[in-house]
Amino acid sequence: MATNEETRLAVRAYVDYLRDLGVYDLYRRGEPSDAIETESVLEPAIASAPIPPSMPLRDVKPVPLVVTASDITPADDTPPIEAFDNPVQHKEQAAMPRPVSFDQLAPLPAERVAPAQKAEALQAIQDLIGDCTRCPLAYGGRRKIVFGDGDPNAALMFVGEGPGADEDASGLPFVGKAGQLLNNMITAMGFRREQVYIANIVKCRPPGNRTPEYVEATTCSPFLLAQIDVVQPKVIVALGGTAATYLLGVKQSLSSLRGQWYSARGAKVAVTYHPAFLLRDPRMKGEAWKDLQRVMAEMGLKAPGKQ
Ligand code: URA
Repeated sequence: MATNEETRLAVRAYVDYLRDLGVYDLYRRGEPSDAIETESVLEPAIASAPIPPSMPLRDVKPVPLVVTASDITPADDTPPIEAFDNPVQHKEQAAMPRPVSFDQLAPLPAERVAPAQKAEALQAIQDLIGDCTRCPLAYGGRRKIVFGDGDPNAALMFVGEGPGADEDASGLPFVGKAGQLLNNMITAMGFRREQVYIANIVKCRPPGNRTPEYVEATTCSPFLLAQIDVVQPKVIVALGGTAATYLLGVKQSLSSLRGQWYSARGAKVAVTYHPAFLLRDPRMKGEAWKDLQRVMAEMGLKAPGKQ
């Protein structure tokens, strides 16, 4: 059985591997250039940790380091030329680079973290994140980094967009009003909250609860990817457009994504409405419940109280 130290080194090597692929270094901003060297000096054992043979590193295409014109997906609603005269409108409607799906970011590790080691492996990822300053969200008034929460062995994972004010204050995902609704959704499915795992695309609150920027989401994604690889859920529910966009590497309307199964990190992925959206438009709760019922059927579950 792997020791704690071996687990920690394996996880560290995995995140280093993601970094080697460029999914991390590419977007590092504002970090002193000697930060990595300092880390290596302080942690020689980690710096020289062998990359587990299960992680086929060499035959993986790196994420393109340069965003080319073909990586830019024009938004369907590309604004007319005159819109660019208005800088505010321009900023709001500018096309963003096409996100890379979690499956494209890195191959699945061939050797999986054993159930008994998952809690430690998650802790190792959290330690690695540290007091993160890798993206602008570190400087946007963030109070707590919201790592993720729940059963490290959960079969069901929910992925939201990013922390709001309550989560920023508590350090826990989905504890505000949207979180209460998510709790109700989880209970209706027959789970207790502590039986599932909950995380977000970004771990720090975007100022004013705005949608995370591309650079913020893609800087943070490797850590969520590593969390998913550790937990190894059977099903992931993407809550809202931002979660779907980055998990699946797609830019489509939520309604066009619902009702189908996708795949990410060996898990089946379902897309449904974000609880915050459902709070604004409760009429859509029935639609969200249909999505969750599909998830339950996939997991062989019946709604509590039903025979
Ligand atoms: N909304 C999210 O997307 N995530 C949270 O954790 C809370 C609100």
